[in-house]
Amino acid sequence: MTFGKQTFEAGSLKDADLTNARLLIVDDQHSVLESLKSLLDLKGFTTDVAQGGKAAVQALESRCYDVMLLDLEMPDMTGHEVLDYLRKYQIATKVIVVSGKSSFENVRKALVKGAYDYIRKPYIPEALITTIRNALAAGRLERQHGRMQEALRVSDAFHRSIVNNSPDFVYILNQDGYFIFVNDAVEKLLHYKKTDLIDRHYSTVVYEEDLDQAHYVFTERSRADGRARNVELRFKCKKYSQGKKAFDVHLMPIELNAAGGYNDSDTAEVSGECVGLYGTARDITERKESEALINYQAYHDMLTGLPNRALFEDRLKQSIAHAIRYKQRLAVMFLDLDRFKLVNDSLGHVVGDRMLKLVADRIQRCLREEDTLSRFGGDEFTLLLPEINSQKDAAIVAEKILGQLERPFNVDGHELFISASIGISFYPETGTTTEALFQGADIAMYNVKARGKNNYQLYSSKMNAAMYKRMAIELDLRKAIVDDQLELYFQPKYEIKSERIVGMESLVRWCHPKDGIIYPNDFISIAEESKLIIPLGKKVLTLACDEICRWQQHGIPPTRVSINVSSIEIEEKDFVPNMLQTIQGYGLDGSCFEIELTENTIMKNHEEMVQKLQVLSQHGIAIAIDDFGTGYSSLSYLEKFPVNTLKIDRSFVQNINTNGSDACIVDAITSMARGLKLNLVAEGVETDYQLSYLRDRGCFEVQGYLFCHPQKADRTIEILKNSRRVIPSEVSGN
Ligand code: C2E
Ligand code: CA
Ligand code: CA
Repeated sequence: MTFGKQTFEAGSLKDADLTNARLLIVDDQHSVLESLKSLLDLKGFTTDVAQGGKAAVQALESRCYDVMLLDLEMPDMTGHEVLDYLRKYQIATKVIVVSGKSSFENVRKALVKGAYDYIRKPYIPEALITTIRNALAAGRLERQHGRMQEALRVSDAFHRSIVNNSPDFVYILNQDGYFIFVNDAVEKLLHYKKTDLIDRHYSTVVYEEDLDQAHYVFTERSRADGRARNVELRFKCKKYSQGKKAFDVHLMPIELNAAGGYNDSDTAEVSGECVGLYGTARDITERKESEALINYQAYHDMLTGLPNRALFEDRLKQSIAHAIRYKQRLAVMFLDLDRFKLVNDSLGHVVGDRMLKLVADRIQRCLREEDTLSRFGGDEFTLLLPEINSQKDAAIVAEKILGQLERPFNVDGHELFISASIGISFYPETGTTTEALFQGADIAMYNVKARGKNNYQLYSSKMNAAMYKRMAIELDLRKAIVDDQLELYFQPKYEIKSERIVGMESLVRWCHPKDGIIYPNDFISIAEESKLIIPLGKKVLTLACDEICRWQQHGIPPTRVSINVSSIEIEEKDFVPNMLQTIQGYGLDGSCFEIELTENTIMKNHEEMVQKLQVLSQHGIAIAIDDFGTGYSSLSYLEKFPVNTLKIDRSFVQNINTNGSDACIVDAITSMARGLKLNLVAEGVETDYQLSYLRDRGCFEVQGYLFCHPQKADRTIEILKNSRRVIPSEVSGN
């Protein structure tokens, strides 16, 4: 818009504006200057005069004038030259040409050069004043306009910089969905050049899977119901390798109203024609990722990456619903690693954690895709086998898993062995709720543990009763240990040749106030499970010390007492110092003792075990391998341990007369013991045939009912005093 010559009502300017306005009168004739000045001063204007063009330029250099009355013909510098000067220096003074004899052409030229108006001489004073007032008003308007333009320019630049410096992707789409504007942020966010996207369709940037949703919102917008909307979309970066990002997309239709202006879309009730979309997209990738991570963490075990308990329960619920609907069955397994704590305790959590991951991998290998393996916590895993056809199928899976775990694990150079106990429950046989299935599998698993671990069991309702019985025993046993209900029996070991007693094995008995004598097979495994074996073992040791002191008082020559020690006991950190302290507390020597450990006990955590046994050995305590032949009979380990004695398991001895292959095992063990220069004891000898067979194979020591049943402490003293083979008919023990 231009401001041409417009006529303003003189009244639109206030008197104050007139007096504030400053005028310059330029003419080469002194008289003209004089008369104009006196006229204008009279009208209240503030005026300066300049005689000639040069004087005018000087005056303009020293101050601003709102209006200049300019003569065109002047000898030193023409009015045209003054106008040129004004234009050159962009001086906003309004010029009214006051012309006398000037030609029309001359005046036209002046107007072209920017003069505001002209007035002919001789002038009518009123007309002159009106023209001046108009010029002043026009000048004022121009200045206002200029200020507005400047303000707009600044504000436009400001908004542009806001848009471009916005961390959000800001864009405008035309009504066909093509970008007609994108801000700088797109370069950082999606690695596109701004020019890459202009005139491209929005589908260029929308991630394929989100296209449907994008089409819906973008075209819904184009249909323009007038409202702004938010939607989450994923946009692709320019290169596939740069990935995709999640955006919170805000969309606003750009609508033309009837007047051809833009509607304010946030408030517009009645929509006009939609000419495009204005949108911003905020990068929420990080937030989405952390949400996804939090979600993942809530449902997964961080160590193994397996589903956790919460996710497992959820899947189980769904599977049950599915099984009900399609009349199918499903199996739940509870898998607990046997003695896993040892790995953690002896080799540290790092090794333990790695081991758990390897175990999880191996179990996973036994499963179908639809099965769920989850880590329940610690060394417990649960499995969900949906659509299982028969209990046999579940048993096959359990066997497969146990088989997979048999191979040693190699963790950080340690060769580790682990086994597992697996309990299995079924829908609908065991129960129809998640709780019932969990509980059933758990009970079945505990049954496996009680029966010696490394196996699996299907749940049966009888197990409940067994469970309660075990729990009752555990409670009772806790009391038994403190209430002195434990008693030691002793069973002598004989040297075959001399038939003399060479040692006494202590065997614990529980003298239950109501149930009478309870034998170790009925409570040792419970004691181990519940860790009660630790106080129980300590009790046994003190009872053994008591007896040895008693024997000394009876003048009985020193006789070694063998104490059975469970793996749980010796794996305790303080087992060795505790044992030594107790013995020393009684003033006894280590040579009064032997400990009997099973092969499997010493096989676990080699290094630590070797160390512990060495310390015991250094204190004169002998070490015997109990039930020899039933565990991992690897010769190499025997050399590493300070072992003194092997006790052939009584199952082999008892089969000597009937079973050729077990006799063979006895042969192998006897020759092995000889090779390793180890003392060999055969336990459970019941017949003369067994005795002579063993003697012929070079076994020197025996123990068994053929010689003596385990005896009460008082009876033991008598036997020791005789120190000879007791004729079985003489005693009736155990
Ligand atoms: P074990 O160490 O193998 O002990 C030998 C078991 O065989 C004893 O059973 C003993 O009574 C029995 N026995 C002895 N001679 C014969 C025989 O000629 N024929 C037959 N058939 N059996 C014979 P007991 O006392 O019931 O002990 C069972 C197991 O309980 C022991 O097996 C031992 O592993 C464990 N145990 C016993 N006392 C303790 C103890 O104080 N602490 C720990 N941790 N375990 C113990
Ligand atoms: Ca034993
Ligand atoms: Ca034994």
